[in-house]
Amino acid sequence: MSDFDVSIIGAGPAGSLSALLLSRMGLKVALFDRARFPRDKVCGDGITPRGARLLMQLGIVGDIHAQAFAARGVTLRGSDENSFSIAFGRDDAGISDLLILPRLKLDYLLLEHALAAGPRYFEATKVVKVDCDKDGPCRVLLDDDRTVTSTVAIIATGAESQLLRKSGLLAQKPAVEHAARVYFDDVKGLDDHVTLFFDGVDMPGYGWIFPTSASSANIGCGVFAQRHRPQAERLRTLIDSHPLLRRQLEGARQTAPIKAYPLRTDFRVEHAGRARILCVGEAAGLVNPITGEGIDYAFESAQFAAEAVSSSLARDGGDSALAHYRERLRRRFATRFAIYRWVQAKCLSGDRADDFLAAVKASPALRQTVVDGLFGRARPRDYLRPNVLLPALKLAFLGARRKRLG
Ligand SMILES: Cc1cc2nc3c(=O)[nH]c(=O)nc-3n(C[C@H](O)[C@H](O)[C@H](O)COP(=O)(O)OP(=O)(O)OC[C@H]3O[C@@H](n4cnc5c(N)ncnc54)[C@H](O)[C@@H]3O)c2cc1C
Repeated sequence: MSDFDVSIIGAGPAGSLSALLLSRMGLKVALFDRARFPRDKVCGDGITPRGARLLMQLGIVGDIHAQAFAARGVTLRGSDENSFSIAFGRDDAGISDLLILPRLKLDYLLLEHALAAGPRYFEATKVVKVDCDKDGPCRVLLDDDRTVTSTVAIIATGAESQLLRKSGLLAQKPAVEHAARVYFDDVKGLDDHVTLFFDGVDMPGYGWIFPTSASSANIGCGVFAQRHRPQAERLRTLIDSHPLLRRQLEGARQTAPIKAYPLRTDFRVEHAGRARILCVGEAAGLVNPITGEGIDYAFESAQFAAEAVSSSLARDGGDSALAHYRERLRRRFATRFAIYRWVQAKCLSGDRADDFLAAVKASPALRQTVVDGLFGRARPRDYLRPNVLLPALKLAFLGARRKRLG
């Protein structure tokens, strides 16, 4: 007999949503986080329309929407002639906004919704190891030497991989990407669009301005290639020297220090878990390698894991949960991640960003696919339409030729 049906380690978006769903399904859930909430998480703070849709389906988008800044479109900036805006457009549930809410607030709201569903919460409790073999329960070892047992365990510890390695889920430290952000008040020239800029940043990567209100913003940059770049220093330099940032930040007030944090974008179905341990969100490497967004992937994988765990507990004591979860992840994400990695390597690396923006500006079909792709809404078959595939292949070919020539 176990203490709980499910232990969930990590109460970020992936862990809180897992706890909410499994508790609502009537299971006995333990939720652990080493932090005391409200706690900060270095992030761009953007929840895509795909993420907002899932929160709406769960009936918890209301207070998040009420506190967030709702962006209606994106401005993409390269050289002067290749800078333009695209409206997000509504999806079939009528959702059109990118919601921006600092994680200090978002994660606290998500946790409160999760706790209202009734899990037992172990606050400020670090988990040092999860052991799970074929026949016995999963043993969750806490840093105060206590052990909690459960039939299934879900690991939702984000980009921090120590627990995964100690529990035999990763053989070595995974390669990570890097991104940094800072907050400013009294920012000039903000509107209801987020800005992504590609000039002056390390490629493949981008800089961003995400308004958190009509006059404040989360500003950051990231490089999405697996080699170390000190993005905090890079962001400082951009703030001091990038023409767009200098213009918008003239007279603005920095309200928090620049902070950087790693990102894991190395999703493979093999990272989904082991035995009766399932990894969700960034612990499974589920972050879009082009945009660095992972909140909606955290939500979606939490939903897949919760459904797999609850049906498997009823059927075979949790033994088939991982196989079902893996299959859902494979069907939903394997092809998409292969496409994202191809686009990143062939169309966005080196000095190709401006050619990419020119191609996107010229083609309405490509524009729509880029917005849908940026926010994870595009289906793999959308990329195969001739008016999307042909410009992409042309870009890849031109990029390869330029590289050969010099
Ligand atoms: C600079 C930057 C900008 C980003 N911008 C965006 C964006 O705009 N939109 C977007 O969608 N994504 C963005 N991301 C990615 C996003 O932040 C992550 O993908 C997301 O937080 C993943 O959620 P998660 O629940 O998997 O993990 P996390 O949010 O990292 O939560 C993990 C939790 O686990 C806890 N934990 C860790 N180890 C233990 C342990 N041993 N015991 C107990 N608790 C533990 C931590 O305290 C934490 O609360 C950005 C990332 C960075 C670095």
